[in-house]
Amino acid sequence: MKITLSLDEFKAALLAQGVSSHLHFAFKCPMCNTVQSAADLVAAGAGADFDTVERYLAFSCVGRFTGAGAPRKLPDGKPCNWTLGGLFAMHKLEVLTPDGKKHARFELATGEEARAHELNRAGAVQS
Ligand SMILES: [Zn+2]
Repeated sequence: MKITLSLDEFKAALLAQGVSSHLHFAFKCPMCNTVQSAADLVAAGAGADFDTVERYLAFSCVGRFTGAGAPRKLPDGKPCNWTLGGLFAMHKLEVLTPDGKKHARFELATGEEARAHELNRAGAVQS
């Protein structure tokens, strides 16, 4: 069962997560179920800032940039090397852009998950 959101609905849902910056908009990898954001991709070395990691965001698991292994049968809390660009369409969310194209994306984390994830990141940087 796939969910289709318009681009406006997608943006509104991200804003509703209530995080402090677009860097912390949070998604869940469909295979390993980890919550991840652009901040994670930057930290993993996928790019220098939001603009350079945006093409991976909600599309390639952050584990691809940290040398993570293939998805495990049961999620173990660690990232994996999944990308929606592969052969199998495992995504559950599609974003419909004004040009009529559908784009596969990771599902959005809930606001609670997104805010907790941002706080965890902040804690990790300080320690
Ligand atoms: Zn993953």
